[in-house]
Amino acid sequence: MKERKVDVVIVGTGVSGLFHALNLPEDKRILMLTKADLESSDSFLAQGGICVMRDETDYDSYFEDTMKAGHYENRKESVDIMIRSSREIIDDLVSYGVDFEKKNGEFCYTREGAHSKPRILFHEDITGKEITSKLLAQVKKRVNVEILEYTTMTDIIEEAGKCCGIYAAEQDGDQLKIEADYTIFASGGIGGLYEHSTNFPHLTGDALEVAKKHDIRLEHLDYVQIHPTTLYSEKPGRRFLISESVRGEGAVLYNKDKERFVNELLPRDVVTKAIQEQMAKDGTKYVWLSMEHIPEETILKHFPNIYEHCLEEGYDVTKECIPVVPAQHYFMGGIWVDRNSHTSMAHLFAVGETSCNGVHGANRLASNSLMESLVFAKRAANCITEEYARMEKETA
Ligand SMILES: Cc1cc2nc3c(=O)[nH]c(=O)nc-3n(C[C@H](O)[C@H](O)[C@H](O)COP(=O)(O)OP(=O)(O)OC[C@H]3O[C@@H](n4cnc5c(N)ncnc54)[C@H](O)[C@@H]3O)c2cc1C
Repeated sequence: MKERKVDVVIVGTGVSGLFHALNLPEDKRILMLTKADLESSDSFLAQGGICVMRDETDYDSYFEDTMKAGHYENRKESVDIMIRSSREIIDDLVSYGVDFEKKNGEFCYTREGAHSKPRILFHEDITGKEITSKLLAQVKKRVNVEILEYTTMTDIIEEAGKCCGIYAAEQDGDQLKIEADYTIFASGGIGGLYEHSTNFPHLTGDALEVAKKHDIRLEHLDYVQIHPTTLYSEKPGRRFLISESVRGEGAVLYNKDKERFVNELLPRDVVTKAIQEQMAKDGTKYVWLSMEHIPEETILKHFPNIYEHCLEEGYDVTKECIPVVPAQHYFMGGIWVDRNSHTSMAHLFAVGETSCNGVHGANRLASNSLMESLVFAKRAANCITEEYARMEKETA
């Protein structure tokens, strides 16, 4: 077995892992690993955008929208932290070169289901790629950060109830023992466990499995979000998402007779249920989504990726309806963490979709996950930075 010793080991290179690394002190040796290549994380797939509190007057409404979508099972403290930190995070992203849509020098905001007003920043319909690729470029500049691709975390090193690093397997089967002061699980969701999911198939909840084995506290494992609209296909593999912001911009859902049957901007779980009931009633495997009310110019400018993908599948969304079906999309539950993303095990943190800080309650409000991932990844990094500073002061 190969042995390594670093200060911090981060499992996962999506937005949460990358942003965490960027917020750690630059004099610490950081090792990041990903099960696949660097671009294969769900963070690259995010289409719709990222929520932000527009100004102080938006606080109450953003809070209520998040709570209502989450069936009021959200941890209020976490929702408050996310909303109040959201502007600062956008400033951070802009400072790293992330480009959001603007008009006359001002940010443009779009809207998705269950938002009472437009408060979502976006970059065409590839917001996740824009954010993640810019964060990745910044991480690659850091001489203190090393990234291992195709390397899978298989377990943690537990000593006297404390996490002291991880075990991992390289692509050729070689085993790695990586000792670290702090370990961060940033390993994404669980979509790979489902037949129909919008997630990458290699995201199989590995960190949750390890956490269960070590009696680390888990929370709400049954809170799984199904996205109402993915492009229906007979082909196996990842389902292509038709972002909620398409409905936010005016797309409507039709039954087999091309009649509307639901308010398309209700929360995801409500729209999903209505679609499933409609499919059962009609005896169909999908319902129709029509973009006929969205100007062609908006479709081509705001949703070029969706337009192109549908065209490749044989549908011109500017002229015809597309078949859509619900699919697994997001995991609200996960490894329980506190307000600083600390798990129930000493020196082990969890951030992003693999963690459960309670922001989303029983159902995630659209476009809250990128922001939640970034806010709590930064808090974990700040916490570790403070712990190092305290230890250094004690030994000085
Ligand atoms: C199609 C789609 C569209 C979305 N659109 C939006 C949107 O518009 N707005 C929004 O806010 N959210 C959106 N989301 C959700 C959001 O993208 C994710 O919740 C978020 O990016 C999760 O980031 P993460 O860092 O936690 O995980 P990910 O980005 O999924 O990264 C997980 C990382 O962990 C690695 N990993 C996993 N297991 C192991 C292991 N055992 N060993 C080593 N590495 C491992 C993976 O290889 C990967 O690098 C969307 C999701 C999907 C799938």
